[in-house]
Amino acid sequence: LVARMRGFGTTIFAEMSALAVRTGAINLGQGFPDEDGPAAMLEAAVEAIRGGGNQYPPGPGLPELREAVAAQRLDRYGLAYDPATEVYVTVGATEGIAASVLALAGPGDEVIAFEPTYDSYAATVALAGATLRPVLLRPDGDRFTFDPDELRAAVTPRTRLLLVNSPHNPAGTVFTREELQVIADVCREHDLVAVTDEVYEYLTYDGARHVPLATLEGMRERTLTVSSVGKTFSVTGWKTGWVTGPAAYVRAVQTVKQFLTYATGGPWQRATAYALRHETPWVEELRRSLEAKRDRLVTGLEAAGFKTFRPQGTYFVQADIRPLGFTDGMELARALPERAGVVAIPTQVFYQRPENGAHFVRFAFCKRESVIDEAVERLSRLS
Ligand code: PMP
Ligand code: GLN
Repeated sequence: LVARMRGFGTTIFAEMSALAVRTGAINLGQGFPDEDGPAAMLEAAVEAIRGGGNQYPPGPGLPELREAVAAQRLDRYGLAYDPATEVYVTVGATEGIAASVLALAGPGDEVIAFEPTYDSYAATVALAGATLRPVLLRPDGDRFTFDPDELRAAVTPRTRLLLVNSPHNPAGTVFTREELQVIADVCREHDLVAVTDEVYEYLTYDGARHVPLATLEGMRERTLTVSSVGKTFSVTGWKTGWVTGPAAYVRAVQTVKQFLTYATGGPWQRATAYALRHETPWVEELRRSLEAKRDRLVTGLEAAGFKTFRPQGTYFVQADIRPLGFTDGMELARALPERAGVVAIPTQVFYQRPENGAHFVRFAFCKRESVIDEAVERLSRLS
């Protein structure tokens, strides 16, 4: 293995999901729902396969999906993108982020991201030969946020990109317009490009609204926005995503993506286009049910003795393990399947310095209520 990828080993999601399978524990680790997305969307994928849509789609993506993405950005956020030149379909958000970073940052460059960072960011920045400069999100009351001065201080003459994930996995923060304004000001003052990961754009709670960074003044021209079908429509295995942004940046993404995977699975694209056009009412139902599940898990974890942070978005709750007498989340997460029959993710893997997240574990609530209840029941016997 090349030196720059040493230390990345096996992803925590693979490790913990394998542990769940081996021990039969309830898997509240890797974030995937245990119920399928809308039936008509699933049918659209089957029809696409039966109808012969099984050879290479165009590299940039099926026109119907690029048009549906452009329509979604316009209807929901008032952002206009040309489907021919400003929308590019990728193998999930993961490839969209990787192609963006590989296209825009290289050896010697620095990429800023808020920490904890979703696990693919650090590996992708390393693949690019660039350096990740983390800016910590810290608990402030019930939510995690950053200190604007720390963000400003992280910028150097070598900074090229700012990677922004909102709604944020694993912190659960939905950045406010004020927070995004600080980020936008830093980008404009230092001529940085922003890459935004908006895969949880529909999954926000308590009236919090997702605001794309590209909607702030002066940001559309310097932002690549990434999203995907997996979380919005409960099909995390479809691995179909998209990048939207100014044509010149999207061309740069194209140059990289065409040699990573060339194109993205055709049948999923057709069904995703269908879902974006017709199934957003279904997503509102999903959002509502997730909000109730969040409350169920938060209440249960608190009763079991954890201190939790009620997320404003995503699938995940951060839980502080210290009130239960534990100090190391990695140790606890590795022992939890045997001790309690539950799998969680140790948040420390999302930090460059594990000690910054040592006493947190992350639980997913995108599960049936009976599953959440059973997990909570098991965890309540921990102390
Ligand atoms: N970004 C974040 C913040 C995520 O939680 C995930 C996990 N779904 C991804 C990106 C990857 O998305 P995809 O499966 O579309 O590649
Ligand atoms: N996004 C999912 C999570 O955070 C995991 C996806 C993956 O396994 N890479 O749980």
